[in-house]
Amino acid sequence: MTTDAARCDVLVVGSGGAGMSAAIAARDVGASVIVVTKSALGASNTGRAQGGIQAALGADDSTEDHFADTLAAGHDDGDPALVRTLVEGGPDAIDWLASIGVPFTRDDGDLRIIRCGGARRPRLLQAGERTGAEMVQAMRAAVRGSGAVVRESTALEDLQPMDGGWCAVTRGKDGAAAEIHARTVVLAAGGGLGGEAARIGAKSTNHPDATPEVLELALALGAEGRDLDSWQRHPTGAIWPPGLAGYALPETTRSYGATLHDVSGERFVDELAPRDVVADAIIRIVDDGRGAAAPDGTMGAWLDTTAIDRDNGPGFTADRLAYVHNRYLKQGVDITKERVLVYPVLHYRNGGLIIDVSGHTTLEGLYAAGEITGGVHGTNRLMGNSLLDTVVFGRIAGTAAAREALA
Ligand SMILES: Cc1cc2nc3c(=O)[nH]c(=O)nc-3n(C[C@H](O)[C@H](O)[C@H](O)COP(=O)(O)OP(=O)(O)OC[C@H]3O[C@@H](n4cnc5c(N)ncnc54)[C@H](O)[C@@H]3O)c2cc1C
Repeated sequence: MTTDAARCDVLVVGSGGAGMSAAIAARDVGASVIVVTKSALGASNTGRAQGGIQAALGADDSTEDHFADTLAAGHDDGDPALVRTLVEGGPDAIDWLASIGVPFTRDDGDLRIIRCGGARRPRLLQAGERTGAEMVQAMRAAVRGSGAVVRESTALEDLQPMDGGWCAVTRGKDGAAAEIHARTVVLAAGGGLGGEAARIGAKSTNHPDATPEVLELALALGAEGRDLDSWQRHPTGAIWPPGLAGYALPETTRSYGATLHDVSGERFVDELAPRDVVADAIIRIVDDGRGAAAPDGTMGAWLDTTAIDRDNGPGFTADRLAYVHNRYLKQGVDITKERVLVYPVLHYRNGGLIIDVSGHTTLEGLYAAGEITGGVHGTNRLMGNSLLDTVVFGRIAGTAAAREALA
């Protein structure tokens, strides 16, 4: 295989927000880039993100507040230098996304910025209701236009250090193996929590490609990890109707006024507390016998989505939460008229590979970005900070990997 191995300066593994940001940045520096990705370019958890992306752009906001909120929500387990890099990179990341065509939602010309759980100020930007899908669409076009070579339906199977870089073995869907020799590698294969959920028989919001083999490969090579077993649950996973089981109602539902209730209608938590607080509260009321039962006996809490139009006026849900509204309507439920049943569902791996502020792992020539890394979110991620993480650290890692490869 060695004789016909493909060669590049930078190999990028994965094509979610982190991988595509890294590939574009590496090409900007002038490196030759190959992207390998398990299925189609952009098929990823990133494309599933609905809620939005955080950046300290509000009139009363500051990167200092964003820094404090991120560290506090992560139980002070985050790496302060990484958190600082994340929040300070926020405004520029939004400018960059807008420059490649992400259509951020505006009200009367100003960016729409709303408050989400765990944030002391409004800080969440949106591109319609499917921010991740809009990001993927814009990034996909930018990757295609960048001159990076994209190998779709190609999974990384093995990675070994070799003289002057790395030798990657990939396998295509047709079963054919191939070698790629790269000076540096950026791992952006996500947290693989979907695979973890399948292993323990839990429901998950993750894309079917979210499997952990790349993370495991890096750890087996000796890269150091942190907080690897710290998983985040999304508090409001749908449990009924069955066709929606595992679907997470975005946090914006609560930002716009949906409230949580036990079986007797009592509220039991601040709906805009950090995710782990809200998820734990739902689990606790169910364990205490205060949960409400779905027709098949599955227990959960009521999310009163009818409060949204009551608070904001008729038509608000259909306008601001059209995607959620329509998903439920297709299953015969009108969330403006009926409350819905929810229970926490596996969502995000908080920990991962240790990186420094350049996205460098603890192994030479090996970089990582996005959900495969740890330290940025401590042991509990704030909603909207992950999409930001993919862009800020994806671009940083792609740039650093390219500079090292070309040095
Ligand atoms: C339903 C849902 C909603 C979300 N909503 C939000 C939100 O509103 N705001 C927010 O900030 N975050 C949100 N998140 C979290 C966020 O979307 C992800 O954490 C983030 O996008 C991860 O990006 P990534 O690039 O690191 O990895 P992913 O987007 O997971 O991409 C990983 C890539 O690696 C590829 N890959 C995996 N294994 C291999 C292999 N062996 N070889 C080659 N390629 C491989 C995959 O095919 C994929 O292309 C949400 C997540 C989900 C699931």
